[in-house]
Amino acid sequence: MVHIRTQREIDLITASCQIVADTLELISEDIKPGATLIDIDLKAENYIRSQGARPAFKGYMGFPATLCVSVNDEVVHGIPNNRILEDGQIVGIDCGAEKEGYYGDHARTFAVGNISDDKRKLMEITQESLKKGIAAAIPDNYVSDIGHAIQSYVEGFGYSVVRELVGHGIGANLHEDPQIPNYGKPKQGYMLREGMCIAIEPMINQGVKEIKTDSDGWTVRTVDGADSAHFEHTVAITNDGPIILSQRSHNNG
Ligand code: MG
Ligand code: MG
Repeated sequence: MVHIRTQREIDLITASCQIVADTLELISEDIKPGATLIDIDLKAENYIRSQGARPAFKGYMGFPATLCVSVNDEVVHGIPNNRILEDGQIVGIDCGAEKEGYYGDHARTFAVGNISDDKRKLMEITQESLKKGIAAAIPDNYVSDIGHAIQSYVEGFGYSVVRELVGHGIGANLHEDPQIPNYGKPKQGYMLREGMCIAIEPMINQGVKEIKTDSDGWTVRTVDGADSAHFEHTVAITNDGPIILSQRSHNNG
């Protein structure tokens, strides 16, 4: 079932999104060589709880942490543990929070120290593909128009789109209908309407699109060992255009 949210609900989703956006901004200063992943995770959890919210991922399907932390060839769902960040890595950080029954979901990929031109380009193109997808999130477009915009953009650079993992509706649950694939032909699936809230989250691989899951049951990585990047925003669809709820200080303007 696809939900159409009231303004009050969108305000609550926005509040949770802002906590997540502030969390990622807060920990961004710790993304540097020598940092320990579990320390970053604890800082994020403490901040979320200080805002009267709850880490949405912790305990979700048994996931053990506040953040998903995915380094280099890890696509998503990496577990923050005692690993230490190294110069030249890229690290995807995905975070969710719930407050007063409504959810926010947001992810960014960060550079650790000095990264190669190849890694920087992958990050930039993935971030740009998210913007293309968001631009397609308008009433009377279809769900697949979002993925089509993302896929056609990134494949033009020789990158590939992960198929098995997708974006999603969001609101009173972390994951709701509809699924939002990052690929597809135009004009398929649900028609987008004002009041829908969705998380758009391209996962873009430098090499082949195929992925595998580690024996920990969570960490998803590319089968060819090539790098992968991930950016995500929670977006409200309105007749005045998409509103990025997880953009920082959304309410301060
Ligand atoms: Mg996420
Ligand atoms: Mg998500």
